[in-house]
Amino acid sequence: MNIVLLGAPGAGKGTQASKISQKYGLVHISTGDIFRANIKGGTPIGKIAKSYIDAGKLVPDEVTCEIVKNRLAEDDVKGGYMLDGFPRNLYQAGELDKFANIDICINIDVDKALLLDRICGRRVCVCGESYHISTLNGSTTCAKCGKPLYRREDDNPQTVQARLDTYEEQTAPLIEYYRAQSKLVTVHGGKGSPDEVFAQICARLG
Ligand code: AMP
Repeated sequence: MNIVLLGAPGAGKGTQASKISQKYGLVHISTGDIFRANIKGGTPIGKIAKSYIDAGKLVPDEVTCEIVKNRLAEDDVKGGYMLDGFPRNLYQAGELDKFANIDICINIDVDKALLLDRICGRRVCVCGESYHISTLNGSTTCAKCGKPLYRREDDNPQTVQARLDTYEEQTAPLIEYYRAQSKLVTVHGGKGSPDEVFAQICARLG
């Protein structure tokens, strides 16, 4: 099974992606994580990506599509994968359809007002876990691995607004794109715990 996970920044894509990939044995591919690893490693891709990410804009399509195309050519994805953060515009979706067979698109729908609060309060760990400050009770370390939590550089109020605008303008049209292909499944990500959202997804995936 090959899945595209769609949702605005702060909708909980990363959290649900790791749950889904674990339960269904899918390889989790996050373009945001790939870019952050490249920025950390000081690679040429990282150098290109950084200015776009800091501005809340999309990294150019040529760069992003090439990364995903190469990643999907690797052997480990043969048993199925979950794309988290790709595609992010109609051009990328069209390119993806040339080199991949997507079975289903899960759209995590969350109210705009909630998104801003979620992203600005988000704290993450290098292990991939994500928290909201309201549930941390002052703790500054990861409950899963004990490492220090930090705020993603692009999770600041200015960049967040730009990311939400980019989502509305460029990514939201993908909802119609996948609906037209009869591949769209929408779940409500604004109410309930991450496990409750996950239960909605499992009910649809079977
Ligand atoms: P994310 O971790 O998915 O929120 O992505 C963080 C940032 O990486 C985004 O705000 C974009 O600047 C960049 N990015 C991630 N995925 C893509 C993509 N498919 N196309 C272009 N830029 C992307």
